[in-house]
Amino acid sequence: MEHDIKHLYIGGEYVEPHSADRIDVVNPANGQRIGSIVDGDATDVARAAEAADRAFRTSGWAELTPKDRAGYIRRLADAYVERGAEMARLVSSENGMPISFSRLVHEERPARYYRYFAGVADTLELERTRPTSTGYAIVRKEPIGVAGLIIPWNGPQGLIAWKLGPALAAGCAVVIKPSPETTLDAFLLSEAIEQAGFPPGLINIVSGGPETGQAVVDHPLIAKIAFTGSSTTGKIIAARAGAQLKPVTLELGGKSAAILLDDADLDDFGARILEVCLPNTGQQCTACTRVLAPRDKYDQVVELATEVLARVPVGDPADPKSVFGPLVSARQRARVESYIAAGLQEGARLTTGGGRPAGLEGGCYVEPTVFRDVSNDMRIAREEIFGPVLSIIPYDGEEEAIAIANDSAYGLSGAVFSRDVDHATDVARRLQTGTVGVDQFSIALEAPFGGYKESGLGRELGPESVDSYLRIKTIYRAGSAPSA
Ligand code: NAD
Repeated sequence: MEHDIKHLYIGGEYVEPHSADRIDVVNPANGQRIGSIVDGDATDVARAAEAADRAFRTSGWAELTPKDRAGYIRRLADAYVERGAEMARLVSSENGMPISFSRLVHEERPARYYRYFAGVADTLELERTRPTSTGYAIVRKEPIGVAGLIIPWNGPQGLIAWKLGPALAAGCAVVIKPSPETTLDAFLLSEAIEQAGFPPGLINIVSGGPETGQAVVDHPLIAKIAFTGSSTTGKIIAARAGAQLKPVTLELGGKSAAILLDDADLDDFGARILEVCLPNTGQQCTACTRVLAPRDKYDQVVELATEVLARVPVGDPADPKSVFGPLVSARQRARVESYIAAGLQEGARLTTGGGRPAGLEGGCYVEPTVFRDVSNDMRIAREEIFGPVLSIIPYDGEEEAIAIANDSAYGLSGAVFSRDVDHATDVARRLQTGTVGVDQFSIALEAPFGGYKESGLGRELGPESVDSYLRIKTIYRAGSAPSA
C-alpha cells in the first residue's frame, strides 16, 4: 500500500502545506517506494509555531493541574495501543527494523512511556515555599512554552514519546519534526492525538528534512529544542539555539564499550552480545560496538563473537524470524561499507562478514561483521558506524580497560561484565559515560538517560526529564511563609 501524505498537522487540522516540495519514502528491504511526504518549509514551520503558541497561551492547557493533564496523556496511551500493531509494521517498512523488534519498540513501549509520564504528572509539585534571609520565597516551576521536538529515524515513536510525554506533563505545546525516513508513522500518531482530544494546536507535526529542522530551531516562538540524532547535527543545533539562548536537550551518538573483566561469564556475554552490542542491526546510539577483552581471553572472545554474529538470521524485516534487517538507506549502507574498508586499511582483520549477504541484493543489507586486532586509535574504534560492525580490542589489566573505554569523544552507554557485580559496579563508577549496565545494557524508563561529552546534553526519561520543559520563577515575600 502506498502512503502519499499531502498534508501537515497544524492547529488540530490536516492542512495544505505552503511548500510544494516532496520527499519519497523508500522501503530499504527492497528499494520500493512506499509513499511520499511533504518537505515543509520555513512558512510551514512558522504556521505550526504560531498555532502551538496560541494553544499554549489560550487553550487553558498550561493552567490545568498536572494531574488533569495526566488524564489526556493516558488517553493518548490508550489511543496509541489501538494503533500499536499497525505502527510496528509501518515503521518496519520505513526503516527496515525487523518486525519482532519493531513490535517491542513501537507496539507496546511508547504507550508504556506515555503512561509513565502520566504517572509523573500525577505527583508533579510545581510550587514550594522556603524561608529566606528577607522573608520567604515561593519557588515555582512554569512550563517553558512551545517545545520543538526533532526526531531521528532509528526508533521514531519511542523517541517522540520520550519528549512528548514530559513536555505535555510540564504543560508545554509542541511542534514535532520527524525524520523524513520515518514520517508516515508520525501521521498515524496524529490520529491517536486527535482521538485523545488535546486542545487544537497543542501538538503539531511538520514533516521535512534538515532545513525544516533548522526552521524549527530558529523560530523565535519555539522556546526549547529537544533533539535526538547525530552529534554533528547536535552541535549545529546547539550553536543556532545558542544564538537565541534557547535551551536544548541533545541525545546524540555513541561509541560505547562493553568491558569483559577477567572473571566475566563469557557464555552469559555470548547470550547478550546482540542486545548489548548491536541492537537494531547496530543502528542504535547505545550500541556497545567496542568490546574490550583481556588479552589472555582475547582469542576466546573473538571466537565467541564470531560464532554468534555468523549465525544471526539476516533477512526481510517483515519476517518474524529475521533478527537483523537492512540498513535504513543505500546512503547509510555506503557509509558502513566505507568504515569496513577503513578498518581493513588500518590493519584490523575480519573474522566474519564484511560484505553483502547473498540473496538479499535488492535491499540495503550488510553482513554482521566482526573485526579483530583492533586498536582504539583506529577509525572503526573512534567513530560511530551505526551498522552491524563489532570491534574487539585487547587490553592488559583493568586500568587499561577503563582507560580505553574512556578514551572516546563519546560517552553515552557502556557495560561491565564480571561475576563480581559489586566490583563491576565500581568499574562502572569510573566510566565517563551517562549510562552503564552491569552484565547487561537495557534502558529503564524510570531512570534518566543521556550522554557525557559529545553524546549529548541534558537527560530524558525518569521524572527528571520533565524539568527540562519547565523554568523556575522565584517570588520573594516578606514575613514568614503561611503554614500549609
Ligand atoms: P541526523 O542528525 O541526521 O537527523 C536527526 C534529525 O535531525 C532528523 O529529523 C533530521 O531531519 C534533523 N536535522 C538534520 N539536520 C538538521 C539541522 N541542521 N537542524 C535541525 N534539524 C536537522 O541523525 P539520523 O541520521 O536521523 O539519526 C542517527 C543518529 O542519531 C546517530 O548518530 C545516533 O547515534 C543518534 N541517536 C541518538 C540517540 C540518543 O538517544 N542518544 C537515539 C537514537 C539515535
